[in-house]
Amino acid sequence: MSTSADIGVTGLAVMGRNLARNFARSGYTVAVHNRTPAKTRALIEEFGDEGAFLPAESPADFVASLERPRRLVVMVKAGEPTDAVIAEFAPLLEEGDVIIDGGNAHFADTRRRERELRDRGIHFVGAGISGGEEGALHGPSIMPGGSAESYASLGPMLESVAAKADDGAPCTTHVGTDGAGHFVKMVHNGIEYADMQLIGEAYHLLRDVAGYSPAQIAEVFRTWNSGRLDSYLMEVSAEVLSHTDAETGAPFVDVVADRAEQKGTGRWTVQTALELGVPVSGIAEAVFARSLSGHADLRAAAAGLPGPRAEAMASDAAGHFADQVEQALYASKIVAYSQGWNMIQAGAQEYGWDIDLGAVAAIWRGGCIIRAVFLDHIRSAYASDPDLATLIADERFSAEIGRAQGDWRAVVATATRHGIPTPGFSAALAYYDALRAGRLPAALTQAQRDFFGAHTYRRTDRDGVFHTLWGGDR
Ligand code: NAP
Repeated sequence: MSTSADIGVTGLAVMGRNLARNFARSGYTVAVHNRTPAKTRALIEEFGDEGAFLPAESPADFVASLERPRRLVVMVKAGEPTDAVIAEFAPLLEEGDVIIDGGNAHFADTRRRERELRDRGIHFVGAGISGGEEGALHGPSIMPGGSAESYASLGPMLESVAAKADDGAPCTTHVGTDGAGHFVKMVHNGIEYADMQLIGEAYHLLRDVAGYSPAQIAEVFRTWNSGRLDSYLMEVSAEVLSHTDAETGAPFVDVVADRAEQKGTGRWTVQTALELGVPVSGIAEAVFARSLSGHADLRAAAAGLPGPRAEAMASDAAGHFADQVEQALYASKIVAYSQGWNMIQAGAQEYGWDIDLGAVAAIWRGGCIIRAVFLDHIRSAYASDPDLATLIADERFSAEIGRAQGDWRAVVATATRHGIPTPGFSAALAYYDALRAGRLPAALTQAQRDFFGAHTYRRTDRDGVFHTLWGGDR
């Protein structure tokens, strides 16, 4: 066995352990280290025969076992632990070495860490990694930022452990400098929130309006999953809905408390979108829907308020309704993804990243949670027009929305009549209608602002900035 490692992984919880195994299975010699050495020993005991591992119990031994320039992957809890690990390891490194942070860091932290380490001659690569523990082992989607120079030495290794899309392309690319990788990973997670919310709304409508059982909805989802909605999340949803609780025999979804939790990347996406001034209503509604679900107090207080209770329609109408829901889901998905890409574009502009928007879609085709056939269409949209202003304006997507929009409106109207909340479908439709509207009531908003705050306004008939001297004692 080699006495020096091609790469090292510190932080051997589920993600780090599986990523280290993935590197080893791909033929690399991998140095492994964890703050608590028991995890390092457990990895060697359980999986030591999968490839070449060099276990180390101290940071100094770990660093000494890495060949130069050293490549050291940090897979620890995001936030302060990452800073603590960097503070511990950076003094042991030399100029030209590369630290890769594969945790879910906020891109602003990554920008700060990259700057600080660059000043010391150390490359810092914030790499978003998606796909959970299975992805880490069998091939995740990897979104590395950092310098182009660091990618030149790291890229081939990442490409060999990353997932492969159907056309064989590795699901990783150099996204952009400093925090670009973590920014894009954040938006990925925001889109994931929106996608899950939309699927949840489709489920709710099929259950309460079409009157389908969870098992029947699983079948509908399986059919959708063989068409344009083919995606990992659709597959997961069908699996969950066909699952029965072993203890009670009830549909599994009925024994799960209806409170969705969140770790924070959806919230970061919305906070950042607000700062950048990008409307990402699909993602925002999904984040809010999760928070609302957790407000037991508010929900209890409102439980008896007046409004319709959903009544299942006649079974001969249910099939047609399900087809309409598929249209609404697809159109809303186009809008949510379009908003996500607008945000990546805005982030790139704000932070000076040269992000290839089509390449981002390409590396999400495999390995990550939102992997889907759909992403190949996004890749094609940017390949045929790299200057595309927004995805919904793409020829294919605008034609699909055009065909879907009648059913989409019908579904939102039906949901409203039945008292079924569809914040994702409704917000997506409102966004679509707002963008295509000739005139918006923003004219009145701006006039109000001029009235009470002298905020001025522009006119439709000539250039310039105006203020009206409104009457009264103001
Ligand atoms: P985790 O539970 O987030 O973190 C546990 C690891 O962090 C352990 O190895 C722990 O060491 C180490 N650690 C915590 N504080 C430390 C400190 N102050 N100094 C040194 N080490 C410290 O593990 P995970 O779920 O495998 O995730 C790792 C990273 O990947 C996180 O940033 C996470 O957000 C990200 N991520 C996770 C997933 C997922 O599906 N889980 C997916 C994508 C990305 P000890 O064993 O000594 O406590």
